[in-house]
Amino acid sequence: MNTEHFERVLLRRQSELRKEMAAFQGEARQSPADVEDPIDEATSSQGKASALQENTLAADALRQVDEALQRISEGTYGHCVDCGREIEPARLKAVPWTPYCLRDQQKHDAENPPTGSLTL
Ligand SMILES: [Zn+2]
Repeated sequence: MNTEHFERVLLRRQSELRKEMAAFQGEARQSPADVEDPIDEATSSQGKASALQENTLAADALRQVDEALQRISEGTYGHCVDCGREIEPARLKAVPWTPYCLRDQQKHDAENPPTGSLTL
């Protein structure tokens, strides 16, 4: 299997996600003590909570990308980590960091429904 294309896609995604996370961490570090108005304060802590949530999603996505790159270097990329079968090419193209074939993805989704993550 030619993984060069996927490696390029994954490396690009990895650097995007790292940038996103650095930006979120910058937002989360802003001190609420700077805000005097109680209404502004509420808005600000809401923004902080959603930034943290997005940061968690980005961290999850980054972990998947890291693991996919790891599989490329081990030569197991493109095979489902559960059943070992080849992952459907269209699925890999749409979600290059997926560790599962469609059938196993559905199994995992049924166990714990995805929260805004991209599934095919
Ligand atoms: Zn599978």
